[in-house]
Amino acid sequence: MIVCKFGGSSLASGAQIRKACSIILDNAERRIVVVSAPGIRTNVPGDKKMTDLLIDLTNVRWAGLEGNMELLAISDRLFSLVSELDLHPSIADQLLAEIARRSEDTTVHHKIYRDGIVSLGEAISGRVVTEYLHSIGVKAKLVDPRDAGLVLSFYSGLTQILPESYDNLSTLASEEELVIFPGFYGLTEEGNTITFSRGGSDISGAVVAAATEADLYENWTDQDHVYAANPNYINDPEPIKEISYSEMRELAYIGFSIIHPEALEPLFSHRIPIRIANTDNPSAKGTMVLAERTHLDNVVTGIAANDDFCTINIRRVLLNQERGILLRILTIFNELDINVEHVPSGIDSLSVIVRGTEFTLEDELVLRDRLQLELGMNDIEVTRNLAVIMIVGEGMRDTVGVIARAAAAIARENISIEVIMSDYHEISCIFMMSKYEMNRAMHGLYNEFFPRS
Ligand code: ASP
Repeated sequence: MIVCKFGGSSLASGAQIRKACSIILDNAERRIVVVSAPGIRTNVPGDKKMTDLLIDLTNVRWAGLEGNMELLAISDRLFSLVSELDLHPSIADQLLAEIARRSEDTTVHHKIYRDGIVSLGEAISGRVVTEYLHSIGVKAKLVDPRDAGLVLSFYSGLTQILPESYDNLSTLASEEELVIFPGFYGLTEEGNTITFSRGGSDISGAVVAAATEADLYENWTDQDHVYAANPNYINDPEPIKEISYSEMRELAYIGFSIIHPEALEPLFSHRIPIRIANTDNPSAKGTMVLAERTHLDNVVTGIAANDDFCTINIRRVLLNQERGILLRILTIFNELDINVEHVPSGIDSLSVIVRGTEFTLEDELVLRDRLQLELGMNDIEVTRNLAVIMIVGEGMRDTVGVIARAAAAIARENISIEVIMSDYHEISCIFMMSKYEMNRAMHGLYNEFFPRS
């Protein structure tokens, strides 16, 4: 049995929904379909995602305004979808009435208000796709995630999946009709609608696939493959045919954003293979994400880059001999709510690596003060505007000289490497440099590991 999830671009218009439905019907194994809200239409300049239109509405209504323009934009979108699919306009009327109803009551907590409205983007897709399938004679059942028992809680700034959800959703596997399941939201124990973070329909899809023990989870997007490097940096990069869970995790960390990072855990723990495929080109094989690779074509599978890093470099003679010093330093970071990414250390020094956008100048001032006053650290240097480039590949583990080749490729670009890090599992290596040199370093590395013939 296949659980397939269609992203916003695959459901952005009537034409896209028709394509998605023909993909669904093309394989009888596709029994559960998770849908995102309608996304951006490529042929409409300045178009917005339905979710963003709903967020706009939430903001103006919360501010006490009527939101007529925002409602108009939503209604426009809804009526186009319905008419492009030759469905009855009353469907759009009913959905619009529900949006208006939910946006009435501004007396509730802001998050409850927002999530209640924003979740309607996926509810719209669910209803429209189901109605369209009925109109072409397909038996399909719209299942609201809240009725199906996707129970969520909001904790520590994150929407978390409560364990009973898996049991509750497992019954979907025995539904006789094709199940259409709106992604992105569920119900709290208190009975409120709650959404995941942006892009969260992937998480719903992953939970449903895990709960129903699907043989395959398909993620239908607008790209034929995951590529070995971001096409924004490298022209026409090589497609990745197969990638392991661990490789995907590593690459997702730095910026391969094809699947929501929180969707990976439910799939990985149930060892469900993932296929990334393109709704606009369904015959392309796509990229398979597997627990274990079946073959390795290349020593490096992918190269990811991100230019939002910063290091806090602390020096003191014999720092490595001070018992508990790392704990005391990191406790200060923790108390200041600064997320620490890596901590490479030397004999008399250590660097704490954080994301630049999460480390404001104000954070820096307070941190410097506390390190100095509480731990007597006088030699603290902060370097901003750093980039991280990560090479990732299962093949690296058993191949001698990969890091040497990477370092030489960067050196040939005349770039000084600030930090190198590789962990014990040896399937990735991180190089840090000035963000202004990141592009050149990416090219050097790409040409080294993916030479063009
Ligand atoms: N519609 C939501 C968003 O735009 C969730 C999703 O598409 O996965 O973020």
